[in-house]
Amino acid sequence: MSSQPAVIIIGAGPVGLGLAFRLGSFDIPTLVLEAEDRIADQLRASTFHPPTLDMLDDYGLGAALVARGRITPTWQIRMHETGERAEFDLSVLSNDTDHPYRLQAEQHKLSHLFLDRLDRMPQVEVRFGAPVTAAGQDDLGAWVTTAAPDGTETRHRAAFVVGCDGARSEIRKAIGQALKGETYPETTVLATTTTPFEDRIDGLSGVNYIWMGHGTYSLLHLPDLWRCSFHPKPSQTPEQAATPEAVQAAIAEILGEDPPFDVREVRPYRVHARIVDDYRRGRIVLAGDAAHLNSPKGGMGMNGGLHDAWNLSDKLSRILHRGASTDLLDLYTRQRRPIAAEEIIAQADQNRKRMNETDPAKRRAHLARLQETAEDPDEARTFLLRSSMITGLRRAEALAA
Ligand SMILES: Cc1cc2nc3c(=O)[nH]c(=O)nc-3n(C[C@H](O)[C@H](O)[C@H](O)COP(=O)(O)OP(=O)(O)OC[C@H]3O[C@@H](n4cnc5c(N)ncnc54)[C@H](O)[C@@H]3O)c2cc1C
Repeated sequence: MSSQPAVIIIGAGPVGLGLAFRLGSFDIPTLVLEAEDRIADQLRASTFHPPTLDMLDDYGLGAALVARGRITPTWQIRMHETGERAEFDLSVLSNDTDHPYRLQAEQHKLSHLFLDRLDRMPQVEVRFGAPVTAAGQDDLGAWVTTAAPDGTETRHRAAFVVGCDGARSEIRKAIGQALKGETYPETTVLATTTTPFEDRIDGLSGVNYIWMGHGTYSLLHLPDLWRCSFHPKPSQTPEQAATPEAVQAAIAEILGEDPPFDVREVRPYRVHARIVDDYRRGRIVLAGDAAHLNSPKGGMGMNGGLHDAWNLSDKLSRILHRGASTDLLDLYTRQRRPIAAEEIIAQADQNRKRMNETDPAKRRAHLARLQETAEDPDEARTFLLRSSMITGLRRAEALAA
């Protein structure tokens, strides 16, 4: 890019790249600054919800992602010991979406698809190895500084700066916003394995949330792997629960088989329910994890961040191409913040509480209620519209009226 960009995005995660892709498709000169040397390939998000696939399909990316993932037409909540389950069939959403299923695919697959497309957009530059150290704004617009390895600082200017720089966002700090809320006490251990759970546990869906004894675990089927998440036992520290021996023992307990199992990756992580008060200060805006964090139960964090990116890019296009006032950015907060707080964080919190229930009678009551919902097509549709994030998007649209 030879001239000054109109928008600088900090962070080449799925949200920053998605925003850059959308701005590029509106022919808006955009610079992405990413601290790392390449796209992160750590296993994080793996669930794509129907409306996200619908959005990506507008650009031919939905089919490309589907080809790289596993279609999951149903998901379930079950009792490990008895196999009793409530199974939700997303085909009840056939009139609401072109993708009535969840897609299981690693988030870096979408990031690479975005990057491939951005390589063919001369109006967008993605610069890796460019950590942003400060940001601010003045009468001329917004700016950020990057630091080279030798300590040399460079200032970059644009009409707008968007912080898509994740949970530890520098841009969030620069605009004086705090991620308010709580960090949950438990650690989750995520392990991926080629062990074929589908041959060992009867009637699994592609996504399964399971009560077992006094604990809980989840099983998500990626194209080539199962992703198994569980909590440390009361006698274990998080570090002890993530050792190779402890992970082998946890899988052995689930399967009732002796180790060894082929474990590929182990990752302990903490979970938060947090959000900023305002996504915007002047010409500096936040999107994705920089603005809100939620429990991964329900698979909504990245999806919600991509929905932010689509909404924000519409606003920036109207400001930059059609002369709309910059105050249009306030509408972005007004539309997206309630959805993050009341749909995404609240549902993820409810999912976490339900699965952390240890009282057998309460678990049974939850299961009975979920089974009733799953078996009634109208109730199932209402429930799945919300858990599939369609209700949130419709609410956001109504908030613009
Ligand atoms: C175990 C786990 C499972 C999950 N599962 C799901 C799921 O199934 N579905 C779902 O929707 N979500 C899920 N999530 C959440 C999802 O991973 C995040 O919401 C998503 O990664 C957020 O994307 P992002 O682009 O906002 O931030 P990030 O992915 O964190 O990207 C931020 C980028 O900014 C860069 N950066 C940071 N600081 C700077 C700086 N100063 N200068 C330049 N660059 C910087 C970072 O290097 C990084 O590349 C899960 C999360 C975890 C931990």
